[in-house]
Amino acid sequence: MFQDSQNQSFPHNSDNELISGESIISIRNLNHYFGQLEHLELRKQVLFDINLDIAKGEIVIMTGPSGSGKTTLLSLMGGLRTAQEGSLKILGREMYNASKQKLVEVRRQIGFIFQSHNLMTFLTAKQNVRMAIELHDRMLDLDMDAKATQILEYVGLKDRVDYYSDSLSGGQKQRVAIARALVMQPQIVLADEPTAALDKKSGRDVVEIMQKLAKEQGCAILLVTHDNRILDIADRIIYMEDGKLQKN
Ligand code: ADP
Repeated sequence: MFQDSQNQSFPHNSDNELISGESIISIRNLNHYFGQLEHLELRKQVLFDINLDIAKGEIVIMTGPSGSGKTTLLSLMGGLRTAQEGSLKILGREMYNASKQKLVEVRRQIGFIFQSHNLMTFLTAKQNVRMAIELHDRMLDLDMDAKATQILEYVGLKDRVDYYSDSLSGGQKQRVAIARALVMQPQIVLADEPTAALDKKSGRDVVEIMQKLAKEQGCAILLVTHDNRILDIADRIIYMEDGKLQKN
């Protein structure tokens, strides 16, 4: 475990209005458009009437052809875009028409994992994680090295903490990237093709960490992938086509 003390679980932000039993992510009748809002004829609708709930501890895999709207939906859930129409509740907070500040607050509670890990190659695994801690948590009394080591242990990299990231394998780099995303102890993890560049064994290691996060930390995980090798980890698989979520 990578918590600061034995009895501290993932922090629950008191600002959140999540009611017991409510979905961590709850989407109703969500539409999204690209193009100028003031010129209706230039607007292009890319998401159509999306409805989706994801519960605590649930792993949902989203598949579907390229250009179908998966990344757009992911970016709305992650507070990277403002929801324009319909309802999008993240941890009980309504993100429809959200202010920039609200988007930033929500983003801080979400762990993002991408295909490209974007590690600092001139830093060690521990320094990469430490940097994320410094950015997130400026508490002076925090032993950042110890916390970074703890998180790296959680993702199975105890013996690699002092390795420079460019000397790590692709799977190990991805696990360092996951460790960085776990610094803020997210209740939601959004992953976009996290195994696409990995061999079978490394991909497996990466998704097993996600399973551990769902089971042990109660994280809600949404994973976008075309990787058929990992579909079995999902509690639910959803399919996006032409901006619409197909019903199973
Ligand atoms: P996917 O992730 O399934 O490949 P995307 O969400 O990236 O799909 O794209 C959905 C649609 O939205 C596509 O037609 C794409 O061209 C369009 N799109 C994505 N981003 C933008 C943007 N910033 N501006 C205009 N159109 C966009």
